[in-house]
Amino acid sequence: MFPITEKKIISEILKHEGCADFITDLFHVNLLNNSVKPFTNFNSQLKSFIGISGKSPTEKVSIIDKGLLRKTIVKALKKRAFDSNLPYLHLAYYPKGYHTIVTFRVDCDVSDKESFFHLLKISEKYSFPLTWFLHLAFQESYIHEIDDIRKNGHEVQLHCYDHETYPSYIENKRNILKGKNIMEKEGFKVSGFVSPFGKWNHSLNRVLEEIKVNYSSEFAIGYDDFPFYPLYKNRRSKILQLPIHPICIGSLRKSGFTNHEMMNYFEKIITSKYERQEPIMLYGHPKNEIDNYPDVINFIFTTLKGLPDVWIATYTEYAKWWKKRLSAKYSVSIKGDFLTIKTDNTNPDLQLHIEKQDSLETYVPLLTAKLSMAHLKWTYRKEFTELSIDGIGSMLSDE
Ligand SMILES: [Zn+2]
Repeated sequence: MFPITEKKIISEILKHEGCADFITDLFHVNLLNNSVKPFTNFNSQLKSFIGISGKSPTEKVSIIDKGLLRKTIVKALKKRAFDSNLPYLHLAYYPKGYHTIVTFRVDCDVSDKESFFHLLKISEKYSFPLTWFLHLAFQESYIHEIDDIRKNGHEVQLHCYDHETYPSYIENKRNILKGKNIMEKEGFKVSGFVSPFGKWNHSLNRVLEEIKVNYSSEFAIGYDDFPFYPLYKNRRSKILQLPIHPICIGSLRKSGFTNHEMMNYFEKIITSKYERQEPIMLYGHPKNEIDNYPDVINFIFTTLKGLPDVWIATYTEYAKWWKKRLSAKYSVSIKGDFLTIKTDNTNPDLQLHIEKQDSLETYVPLLTAKLSMAHLKWTYRKEFTELSIDGIGSMLSDE
């Protein structure tokens, strides 16, 4: 238990940012015009996301756009660093060599064998590893045939037994354990979870902490963002949250998108996130959705596979990376042109990302070293507005 002060929220956000101490020390709560307290808000509501052709998909997601709040804090901190003639320095979000991460999650709601293996076949055409979340009331009958797909790099985890997220602890526990037991009897280790309808509540979190999953993913607590540990009621959840973009083919169909418009929508989302080096976390359902839109899903996989230098990962790989990154310790001091890094790290995947006021940026390995900043190779970083013209990831209006 810890009291969640504004300072605590900010320090939690900056921990995930992996800032050097001299950057974190620059931060004062009064740098922000608004309170960061909403970060602990765990309520959800129906929001419209900006679409195309005047059509806007909707989903019931976190009331607070926590990603936007995080970016506001980082932006204020960056400005503060630049105003103090310092570079902004933090741990790179992705392993060395990757521009961003790409994941595709499959919520297997009511999927029969035919729709399940139809999607599998399409993904394998692209050698695209997916993270599958089973709805055991439907997949129990053919679960022994699902075993094998893990050999090809797919990850298989738990969605539910009955497709429901309950307010009560007892009901969630019964449902989750029922599904988990079926999977474990079949030799699956359940270490990841995504809830039905993307809902999140305390009692669900309590069950997930008890069964010790490594991560969960619920857009009712966060979306379009980097991973975080939910803060609520003076606590921090022990379960790492992996936020996704909460709009799938089904959401677009509900809002009257044609196949062609769906492809345009995903192209815009993917391009916008790629340019901004934000995680590209998409999802879908094999039955009554992807099975009816083979052209759209083929388009999505083709587009994602065509992106240069992306890390196409499963959820466990991503969670593992993020936790490794969070545990990395280092200190940096700057004297004149010299940057002195001290660290015990030896993992070559971890890097420091350094940005300067003049939109120049560079990456250096997270290894003990003394570097001349003038001799580093700096590249120009294109700046993007938080709310792009098409407003990706932001809300248009509340309903
Ligand atoms: Zn579902």
